[in-house]
Amino acid sequence: QDITLERVREHVWEIPKSGEMRVPARVLASEELLEQIGDDKTLQQLKNATQLPGMQKYALCMPDGHQGYGFPVGGVGAIDAEEGCISPGAVGFDINCGVRMIRTNLTYEDLQGNEEELVETLFENVPSGLGGGGVVETDVKTVEEILERGLDWAIEEGYATEADRLHCEDEGRRPNADADAVSEKAKNRGKNQVGSLGSGNHFLEVQRVTDIYKEDVAEAFGLEADQIVVLIHCGSRGLGHQVCSDYVRKIEQRHGDLLAELPDKDLAAAPAGSELAAEYYGAMGAAINFAWVNRQLITHQTRKVFERVFGRDWQDMEMELLYDVAHNIAKKEPHDVDGETRELYVHRKGATRAFPAGREEVPRAYRDVGQPVIIPGSMGAGSYVLRGGAESMQETFGSTAHGAGRTMSRTQAKQDYWGETVQDELQEQNQIYVKAQSGATIAEEAPGVYKDVDEVVRVSEELGIGDAVARTFPVCNIKG
Ligand code: 5GP
Ligand code: MN
Ligand code: MN
Repeated sequence: QDITLERVREHVWEIPKSGEMRVPARVLASEELLEQIGDDKTLQQLKNATQLPGMQKYALCMPDGHQGYGFPVGGVGAIDAEEGCISPGAVGFDINCGVRMIRTNLTYEDLQGNEEELVETLFENVPSGLGGGGVVETDVKTVEEILERGLDWAIEEGYATEADRLHCEDEGRRPNADADAVSEKAKNRGKNQVGSLGSGNHFLEVQRVTDIYKEDVAEAFGLEADQIVVLIHCGSRGLGHQVCSDYVRKIEQRHGDLLAELPDKDLAAAPAGSELAAEYYGAMGAAINFAWVNRQLITHQTRKVFERVFGRDWQDMEMELLYDVAHNIAKKEPHDVDGETRELYVHRKGATRAFPAGREEVPRAYRDVGQPVIIPGSMGAGSYVLRGGAESMQETFGSTAHGAGRTMSRTQAKQDYWGETVQDELQEQNQIYVKAQSGATIAEEAPGVYKDVDEVVRVSEELGIGDAVARTFPVCNIKG
């Protein structure tokens, strides 16, 4: 695996087009991050992806990139939606894994002394782990409603407000969602997972705002120093995973000719215009809706927990949704390619949409400043709120990073760290209260397994694709 990168300019590295590559590939990283990215199969996977038919301009890797299933996590692939293809592996198994941030009007001072009660009550009331059920136990028929209608279902059922809907990407409902394209098996897996974090990397974190970098944007986002916010990270659970495996299998079977042209079978793709491309797109849209409802029900539960712990109504604590954004998704979007507007399937896998000010997809309240982008760091480091940068449309099809990104495998992490030790150190040294289903999870997610989030955000900012607005630091964290 000898891949040479050419430096285009500061933070921009290119794998030049050669052999079977249809376009070049680009890695956006500082030299420090590039060293970590070069460690695993990321570059090979990125190079492989340039062979997907219809790939536009270049296959991209964000500064937090690392290897994934077929396509790197931190990857962006914009593929012609009429003459190209769509690839489930370039979306990821956890369809619409994503993050949302909820504001409060509490300050860190209001919370001090209550951390233990808060973390315990959250842990008791927000289902997590592999089993554990969901906030609601439901049936296939209800799952179908959720798949079709997303947040509109949650509003009707009293779990969401109109304001929640308006501050969710796509207003919490994909127009193309097709519940009929989701298998019975997937629906059954979703039945008792509506409102559940899941395991491993997913979490609910209470944080305090420590730094404000852009006063005017922070004001538009409703953020100020010392404020308490809640960050929720999870996706579409077993349902989304099943949708991905179902379609990978179907596509492998039906489009073997395209598969044979690709260097890695994990990139299996359905040609644009084919029946399976449409079906997968509809099923993925439905799974996206499911994930939005999932995060919404966790929000509902979080509001109730805060009411209990602080003895005030959630409305009184102004627990409004700042924004909810997906980081495992493919969407048809119009983009400018060489002066021409084309409809593209923009695959963002471990990458976040980062549309700049002025775009109509950005909620009205934020349209003058740009889309909020939420970049978690780790349970022991800062997380960031950014806004979509002025260069993002030109440079990255309107995208930026989604996290700090792993540098260490889970297996390695369990050898290097011991859960309880990590937990005790976080509490004693940083006043961070962590509670998880198992010590192994804490070891696998120890702060040291992730790259430096400050560096990731610095690169995003210097490239102009996403600008730092505020930084937060963990107070309480629950994990699956
Ligand atoms: P992924 O979606 O790829 O699993 O993870 C997204 C990002 O979340 C990771 O790259 C990592 O930087 C961040 N992260 C993982 N665990 C935690 C956590 O407990 N707290 C915070 N704030 N960030 C985390
Ligand atoms: Mn995720
Ligand atoms: Mn996920």
